[in-house]
Amino acid sequence: MGKDLYEIGEVPPVGEVPPKMYANLVRPENYNEAEPGKAFTVEVVETPPVGRNQVLVSVMAAGINYNNVWAAKGIPIDVTKVQGSIGQPTEWHIGGSDASGVVYAIGENVTNVKVGDEVVIQAGWFDPEDPQIQAGVDPGFTPGYKIWGYETNWGSFGQFCMAYAHQCLPKAKNLTWEEAAAPTLVGGTAYRMLMGWPPNIVKDGDPVLVWGGTGGLGTMAIQIATHFGGRVVAVVNSDAKGEHCKKLGAVGYIDRKNFSHWGVPPHWTKSEEWTEWFQGAKAFGKAFWEALGEKASPKIVFEHPGEDTIPTSIFMAESGGMVVICAGTTGYSATVDLRYLWMRQKRFQGSHFANDEQSAAFNQLVIDGHVDPCMGEVFTFDRIGDAHQLMNDNKHGEGNMVALVGAKTTGTKDVPA
Ligand code: NAP
Repeated sequence: MGKDLYEIGEVPPVGEVPPKMYANLVRPENYNEAEPGKAFTVEVVETPPVGRNQVLVSVMAAGINYNNVWAAKGIPIDVTKVQGSIGQPTEWHIGGSDASGVVYAIGENVTNVKVGDEVVIQAGWFDPEDPQIQAGVDPGFTPGYKIWGYETNWGSFGQFCMAYAHQCLPKAKNLTWEEAAAPTLVGGTAYRMLMGWPPNIVKDGDPVLVWGGTGGLGTMAIQIATHFGGRVVAVVNSDAKGEHCKKLGAVGYIDRKNFSHWGVPPHWTKSEEWTEWFQGAKAFGKAFWEALGEKASPKIVFEHPGEDTIPTSIFMAESGGMVVICAGTTGYSATVDLRYLWMRQKRFQGSHFANDEQSAAFNQLVIDGHVDPCMGEVFTFDRIGDAHQLMNDNKHGEGNMVALVGAKTTGTKDVPA
């Protein structure tokens, strides 16, 4: 007879599913805009059910992503309301959009994985029997598409997580559990941004500007763009971070602390103030040329800070080039000077995570050793809230933070004895 509940770091025999599990969850009444890390509490809950086309995975390690900073703040949406709309519990949110683990149970109609398979889970949640998806519509354009472990419950911050089987990808054999849990959400997102919007995809020799080069998205974007022949200039806030970007393949970097023209620019009718802003943007453009070693503008600008940086990004992109954006970390009021957009025929493209093919293509780059998962600090399960607070404060180190759930491997920082 198996136990009702296993301790963290203790893993039941493969295929044995206990009725209860630990989760580091967020309750709506604990949403905390200033200190999102405090919204997390470890509790015992029922192990999730598994439906048609779905799988239950014993989580070995869970990747930390910015999306659960937003979830724990309760802005811009209350994620439990989305969970409710798909029939999931609303009294709490078990987040976590990256997992490495072992398949413990499969639902009806599942053929791509079996109990015992070692997998990583990519966060593109959709019902494969959705008629629009069966008709060939990109899942990301359908209303049923959700980010698993953000807009859905039962993500990887619990001992067992529940996902659609199509989200399972083979775990790279050469990686530890925690390394494998680090990159998939940010990597899949970066892959779609850089390779998913033809004709504006990275081509050999293309200059590419990547904001936040040492962050989750940035570390993946530098490696993916470089792999496809791009010449990346990364933006960071220190020389040490810039050097880190160069190790990942960037040809140069810009320290954004040397500039002050950030945020919504003065209105174009206020010519003196606007000209001052424009001088800042031009100086940034010059810094890009210097870092690139050539007077050429970026064919792709990889955006996510949003409000603070969009005016500069739109100005910077090459004629016929693209600013591609997946977030507005600093705010949502992006001011676009339309003169630069239409006269130089630039593209301003929204992008959101990835489809199955893009996630699999990214995972293959990891399996083949072309992309390093850039694992950052490793946390114990009870410190998942601390990791999110560090991220909120932009005080986390380079790369992708991870929390151990079932795994007890490696000598990295914070791993229990
Ligand atoms: P991250 O690891 O915290 O990295 C973000 C980077 O942005 C930081 O390293 C920081 O680098 C830079 N940054 C912070 N403030 C900035 C500012 N005012 N101006 C310019 N750069 C600034 O986070 P991430 O994982 O890369 O995620 C970034 C955003 O994308 C989050 O909002 C996240 O929710 C979103 N996201 C969206 C999707 C999607 O599918 N839509 C997927 C993944 C992530 P420096 O301080 O060194 O410049």
